[in-house]
Amino acid sequence: MAQSPPHSTVWRLQCKNFTAPSGSVRGNAGTNIIGVKRGKLNGTSDDKIVAVGAHYDTVSNSPGVNDDGSGMAAMLEIARVMTSSNEQNFTTIFVAFDHEENAPPARVAIGTPCETPRGSDDFVCSWLLPFLRSSGRPEFQGIFMLETIMNYDPQPNVQTVPQPLAFPNVRIRI
Ligand SMILES: [Zn+2]
Repeated sequence: MAQSPPHSTVWRLQCKNFTAPSGSVRGNAGTNIIGVKRGKLNGTSDDKIVAVGAHYDTVSNSPGVNDDGSGMAAMLEIARVMTSSNEQNFTTIFVAFDHEENAPPARVAIGTPCETPRGSDDFVCSWLLPFLRSSGRPEFQGIFMLETIMNYDPQPNVQTVPQPLAFPNVRIRI
């Protein structure tokens, strides 16, 4: 019986292309880069998946080094550190999003193809749910979005949460 290669099954990297509606602000096509580090429980309902994301596009009126080069650098460092061990139980997804700046939010129907100018919308509606369904229906814990993380101020009430939020109850806990 053939044995599975030990490392090629742990990491999977893919480019996920998406098509924005014609006439949208950022053009008609984008590419998300998605890395999956499979945990020991991958493929079972006991897996508890966490995603880490940042965006790699920028626009001329934005400080691209911070927005979101800082998030990309942090995400790549997290992925680098995690390559040193194949011992984790749970699966981690890393996503570098395209077309996040100046892209209006789309109407997203999870699990159905969508035309969206925004990479994160495409990730949710056309990649994440099919992936979860093909992975033993694990529990999806959520995503850590690393956005403009060079901004730091320890004072209370110096940060606002953008509106609208898809999950208003989350704002209460921030
Ligand atoms: Zn940003």
